[in-house]
Amino acid sequence: MGVIQSTPAIVTAARRALDAADAGGALRVGDHALPPGVDDVLRKVLELLAGGKAAGYTVSVFVPDAERPKCGDCREPIELADPTDGESWIHAEDANYFGDHSAWA
Ligand SMILES: [Zn+2]
Repeated sequence: MGVIQSTPAIVTAARRALDAADAGGALRVGDHALPPGVDDVLRKVLELLAGGKAAGYTVSVFVPDAERPKCGDCREPIELADPTDGESWIHAEDANYFGDHSAWA
C-alpha cells in the first residue's frame, strides 16, 4: 500500500481541488473528467489530504466486464492464477461457476 503524505503543498492542492468540485465542476485528471464513482472516492482522499492527514492507497486496473476474458465452456470470467503462466486459467473469484470443468480461454 502506498501513502500520500500531506505536505503543505499537497494540503493546498487538495483544498483547491475540493473548492473546484464544490463549485460544481467535475474532478478532472488532465483532460479527463472522472466518472461519478471515481469522483466520490477521490473526494474522500482529497478530504483527508486537505485536513493534513496521510492517505493510503492501492493501485489496480479496472477492466470493464465486457473486456474480461471468458471461459470457453461456461462463458464466466476467468483470470490467470499465475500471471507469468499464460495457460494457468482459473474461474475468477466473482464467476458464477456451477460446473465440473476446468477454466479455459
Ligand atoms: Zn467455465
